[in-house]
Parts: sequence; C-alpha cells; structure tokens
Amino acid sequence: MEQGKIWLSSPHMGGTEQKFVNEAFEANWIAPLGPNVTGFELDIESYLTNGKDEESSIHVAALSSGTAALHLALILLGVEQGDEVICQSMTFAASANPIMYLGATPVFIDSERDTLNLCPVQLENAIVDRMANGKKPKAIIAVHLYGMPYKIDEVKQVADKFEIPIIEDSAEALGSSYKGKKCGTFGEIGILSFNGNKIITTSGGGALIANKKSIKQKAIFLATQARDDAPHYQHTEIGYNYRLSNISAGIGRGQMQVLDEHVGLRRKMNEFYQDTFSTIDGVTVFSEPNSDYFCNNWLTIISVNEKITGKNREDFRLFMEGLNIECRPLWKPMHLQPVFEKMPYYGNGIAEELFETGLCLPSGSNLTEEDRKRLELGINEFFKA
Ligand SMILES: *Cc1c(COP(=O)(O)O)cnc(C)c1O
Repeated sequence: MEQGKIWLSSPHMGGTEQKFVNEAFEANWIAPLGPNVTGFELDIESYLTNGKDEESSIHVAALSSGTAALHLALILLGVEQGDEVICQSMTFAASANPIMYLGATPVFIDSERDTLNLCPVQLENAIVDRMANGKKPKAIIAVHLYGMPYKIDEVKQVADKFEIPIIEDSAEALGSSYKGKKCGTFGEIGILSFNGNKIITTSGGGALIANKKSIKQKAIFLATQARDDAPHYQHTEIGYNYRLSNISAGIGRGQMQVLDEHVGLRRKMNEFYQDTFSTIDGVTVFSEPNSDYFCNNWLTIISVNEKITGKNREDFRLFMEGLNIECRPLWKPMHLQPVFEKMPYYGNGIAEELFETGLCLPSGSNLTEEDRKRLELGINEFFKA
C-alpha cells in the first residue's frame, strides 16, 4: 500500500486564520486594503523589532508577492534601464527576474561555503571590476538562502566601502536573526514572501520592509497605480497593482500567531536530520556557522560527498521519490540558467559544487513522528545498504 506523500514544505495553518478571514467577510471588506492589511503590517513590524519598538523604525508594506516587493525595491533605489545590479547567483529566479523587468543587467556572484550565500570576497572583486569597466552597480541583492543569514557584517562592510545599497531578500528567512536582530531589517530595503511553501503563507503575498516611513509610503503609492492626490484619477508616474488583499492579510494575521512555534518545529526537523546523519560518513547537514546565527531552518540542506559515500545525491533523491518522499536539488545557480547565461558572473565554482552535491529535505512544521520514522528508515536504507 502506498503511503501518503511527504512534502518538502507545505502550508500549515495555525487555527485563527479563518477568524480573520471571516471578519473581512462580515465587514464586506474583500477589496485590497482594510483592517487586516494594516493589522498584518503592524504584526510584522512588531515581530521584526522583537516587540521593542513602539515608535517603529521599521515600516512594512504588505504586497501581492515577494517578487513584487523586489521589483518595487529596485525602483525605489533608482534602478533604470542599462544599470547593473549585483545578485547572489545561487538563489530562486525571483531574486533576479525583477532586475530584467527594468531593463537592467544582473551581475551574478558566487556563494561562500559557510552560509551558501553571497561571497564577500567575490562581491568586492566584482564591484572593483565593474567600476573599472565604467559602471558602478546600483544595488546589491543579498539572499538568506533556506533561512540562513548571509555574512551580514562582511557583506555590509563591502557595500558601505563602495556606498552601494543592499536589498535584503529575506523571502526564506522570516524568523531568522543575526546577533539577535531579525532578518529583513539589515538592508536599505528588505523583502519577505508569503507564498505557499514559505515559512508562513497567505496563499500568495509578500512585503517590503523599509527603514523610513517615506519609503513605505512611496512603495504603497507605486503598488496602488501611482495615483496622485486629486479627486479624479491623475497619474504622473507609472504605477503597479501590487497591494495585498484584505482576505490574504487575514490569513497572514493568523499565521503570525504561530510563526515562532513553526520556526521551533522546523528547527526540530533540522536536529532530527543532524541526529540521523551523525552515523553516516560523507553526508553533511548544513547548520549555523556559530552562535551569532539563528536560522529558521525553512529547509534543511544536506551535501553528499560521493567519494566517501559511494552514492550521489540524485540517486538518493530518486530513491526517496520511490518512497513517496519529496526532496529537491538546491536552487540551480542563475549563471548556469539558459536565460541568464550571457550575464556577467564572478566566482570560483562553489555554487556549482553545492548544486551538484546538495539536496533539500522535507522540513515542514507539520511533519509527524510517523513521517520522521519513514524519513529515517529511507535514509538508513539508502546510505547503509
Ligand atoms: C520565494 C522567493 C522569492 C519570491 O517570492 P514570491 O512571493 O514567490 O514572489 C524571492 N526570493 C527568494 C529567495 C524566494 O525564495
């Protein structure tokens, strides 16, 4: 008999989402905007400042997707046709696509091994080289891949040295922090995603995080068709339809109530994998480099050393698929993607190697003890046979 599918990461409702959605129905507040949108923004602001900051220095605009948030972040930083924007190569395509929407050129950068994220050394090499070619990059998109904070101090040092703003792609890292400060609050502008498989979901949605109220207001202006202050519809700028709906925001409010609990459960999944692989030579479970890092463990990642195990990650993936268990290769680096292969790239082959050897394992906060037994059996059967 085939057992139920174990997914990589699936939506996990907490229970109060429906209450907020019902309130929206009862008030007939189905349109974009409304009390849930404002409430959701306040919930996120309070969360990102660890509840400390009443007179908040963090300003959140709820949007229709993380991709929309990145698109607006680039516009707000003045990126235009012909500009160059630096972007981590190993990431989801949504980090890089908005650069193309604007007719700008992405310049891709390799990963370092500690966090899998933007390599500060290659970052500096790239900036120096692009400037020697006559173009200073307009922005740096740095990603906290799989929830692991990038090397925040080192990357910021390089960015500050050349005075280039950072867009912090925190789509996978809500709930992560570095030296006690929440991810999403480090960049000039940060972004979040609430897509279906992220750590919390609104069925689809995102947010832009600004350190100034004026940036948030400008983001909302652009996200609501850039309508000027006039009784008729008047426009002096190009606008977008990127605001989150009051219904989706209701789901988000419920999800915020269980966020920390879900982070705890994902971290438990990571510990489970650390334990399970501790007796298998040649498989590394990625974990925080030191205690400055706190990872939400959105997805747990392993790296399979074929020389030691005699097996490769693709055979393992297929084996698990045969057990109705979903595993997935890491994001294929952008500089290896057909659509981006002509774009400049600075690196040393680390992202390629991570892509060849790495695998994402089921990590959802809703996995059960029974699921973990099936995972453990599968892992042991494959690697110890
Ligand atoms: C999911 C994701 C995005 C895009 O968010 P959407 O809400 O799906 O548009 C951007 N960057 C990264 C790294 C992501 O994982």
